[in-house]
Amino acid sequence: MRSADSKRNVIQKIKNYIAAKVTVNNSVMDDMVLLNSRRVLYIAILSMITNIVAIMLLGLENPTVGDSYEAKWHIGINASHFSMFFIMGVMGTFSFLLRKNRNIRFMATLQYIMIGILLVFGIMVVCIDQLVTANITTFLIVCTMIGAVFLLRPLYAIITYAISYVAFYIGLGFAQTDPVILLSNRVNGITAVAIGICLSLISWKTTLEHIQQRRHITAQHRELEEKTEVLEYLAFYDPMTSLCNRRRGEELIKQEISSMRRYGHESCIILIDIDHFKYFNDTYGHPFGDGVIKEITFLLKKSVRESDMVSRWGGEEFLILLTHVSITEAKDIAEKLRKIIEERIIVVNAKVINTTISIGVAQIKPDRNDALEIAYKEADRALYKAKEEGRNRVAIATEDDKTAIASVHIEWRREWESGNAEIDDQHKILLELGNALIHMGLSVVEQEKILIQLHLFINHMKKHFSYEEEVLKAANYPDTQKHAQIHEEIVEETLGFRDAYFKGEIKSTAFFSFIIDKVIIGHMLQDDVQAFPYLEKYGKHGR
Ligand code: GH3
Ligand code: MG
Ligand code: MG
Repeated sequence: MRSADSKRNVIQKIKNYIAAKVTVNNSVMDDMVLLNSRRVLYIAILSMITNIVAIMLLGLENPTVGDSYEAKWHIGINASHFSMFFIMGVMGTFSFLLRKNRNIRFMATLQYIMIGILLVFGIMVVCIDQLVTANITTFLIVCTMIGAVFLLRPLYAIITYAISYVAFYIGLGFAQTDPVILLSNRVNGITAVAIGICLSLISWKTTLEHIQQRRHITAQHRELEEKTEVLEYLAFYDPMTSLCNRRRGEELIKQEISSMRRYGHESCIILIDIDHFKYFNDTYGHPFGDGVIKEITFLLKKSVRESDMVSRWGGEEFLILLTHVSITEAKDIAEKLRKIIEERIIVVNAKVINTTISIGVAQIKPDRNDALEIAYKEADRALYKAKEEGRNRVAIATEDDKTAIASVHIEWRREWESGNAEIDDQHKILLELGNALIHMGLSVVEQEKILIQLHLFINHMKKHFSYEEEVLKAANYPDTQKHAQIHEEIVEETLGFRDAYFKGEIKSTAFFSFIIDKVIIGHMLQDDVQAFPYLEKYGKHGR
């Protein structure tokens, strides 16, 4: 029972092995036929040259005329070469024409016809040769050449050689009368056929491996190209909306600035922010918020010219580059967009909502080196103004807004005096560093400079906090621990805000209002005030 099972197993394994081989061989058939078709042409040309040379050689030597073996041999060989010359001419032409048409089926038929003709020629010449010589050289050459040159799948090769050996065996029986020579030639014929089969198997296997390797490399190459394409897409486009992202947007604006410098036309940018967007996220969840962003994207895209660039600047902010447009026209376009969104009923996940957008408009001034930074800051300021004035509106930043915002300056107040001179001094420095930072953020200053200023601010804040904690501890302030905890939270929050600001996730206005409200005023007014009596005490005694 068990032996029957294992026998069945072995048979199944063999069947699987053969099936796998057949599948692999089938998969390369077309490539092999294409290779063969080229070789059919080359062999046809080579054969025609050989036939001509052979005919010329035979013509030079005039054998004894009559009924002698030599004369018969001469006529037979001559006729074979003549017919072969014309047949090869036809084969060569066919293979050339079919290769041009890429007709695989005809090419496959042609290759078998060619192999058949060559074998018949070899056997025929050998049989004729038996009239004058005992050798079978032509058959050996033909077998070797077919094995080395043509790509035949293994089973077909074995069948082809087997049939040709049978023909050779029978044909020789008619041509060779000497039984010993006949036997010797038939034995040698087996060697010729075996060599042919061996060569055929080797060339099939090596070519197959070569094709598979080439396909593997091509597939890897294609995969790499596809991955690169995806990476390039992700580097420049936002997958959720398919709009270009901030990086690509900046690139396109820079290109437009160059074009403005060259041709002298006007172009503007508009910065759009969805009003009270957090409400949608908080009420219906983030996926719903995503749906709103997609809907707004669709509306914005279809409402501007195709040549205008709509980019997703960050979260629910969009920046549109309006080319060949004056600031007045840009304001009108922005107003049109605002109205479209205001009037449109948006349906997301079967929920019907209505939303509005605020828009900041700015003209690009191409003469400046940092034209992009200036235009963006102006649009951002205008957007801030639109929000401040009640949202759902379009605003343009004017020079007045710039000076008004840039001149935001927090003055030191007497009520902030803690009674500890050192801490007061530190608070004053913190205030001045903060003032400088806000001023830089709201006017046109490179980001590196803001980063350095921010670094100074954070360093001073940390030093001040640890000094304050020491003083409070020495003054036996009961909530020292809690106060230190608040300090730690402020530092962490500041670092978080800083990172978000430099990544463009929050606006400069949001970041700087955090610094004023939470770090400077909030810290001094709400947290420190409670400790003032202790600081005062310590300040008076500790000095
Ligand atoms: P305002 O009128 O002042 O703009 O109010 P707002 O609630 O829209 O405030 P803000 O613009 O500061 O808030 C943006 C919010 O958008 C914060 C963030 O959680 C959310 N957000 C950012 N990106 C995405 C996103 O891709 N999908 C979703 N669902 N929400 C996002
Ligand atoms: Mg926003
Ligand atoms: Mg918003």
